[in-house]
Amino acid sequence: MKLPDFLQDPELNRLRQQMGADKPGEFELFDPEKQLTWSEREGLMAGDLPVATHYLRVLKDKTLAYKNSRVWLHDGQDYHLAYCQRVQSLRHRETEVLAGTGVFSAAKDQGVCLECLSVLLYQGVDARRLRRAEFSEQIREHFSLEEFWQEYPFYPIT
Ligand SMILES: [Zn+2]
Repeated sequence: MKLPDFLQDPELNRLRQQMGADKPGEFELFDPEKQLTWSEREGLMAGDLPVATHYLRVLKDKTLAYKNSRVWLHDGQDYHLAYCQRVQSLRHRETEVLAGTGVFSAAKDQGVCLECLSVLLYQGVDARRLRRAEFSEQIREHFSLEEFWQEYPFYPIT
């Protein structure tokens, strides 16, 4: 849909002059196709925003995004942060997943997907080291979503 250019509208400009407003003021265009709405942001903070997987974007750094926010995805006992094989298959299946950005909603009873970390080479995690079970356990135990977001700020992204 194309909106008319209200800045060129003589009626509105006259009204603006009558109000003594010389300048049109600052405003930001909001594009709900690309930018999160308030309710979506709330859903993400709560960690339960349903997102159709074909709307997910894979960023250059291989993390996941929905519109202008990085997100993680619920998947059983795991949550995913990057484009690992599991997320690839979810995406190809065109299903719906719960996405979030909230730190605490993710950390409660779920564990981070280790393959996601190895995709990102996060803190030296790689596929070879993950084959050692005790290393994997340590990583899962010490992983902090809060720290992760410091390295990969989740909102807003462009
Ligand atoms: Zn994963």
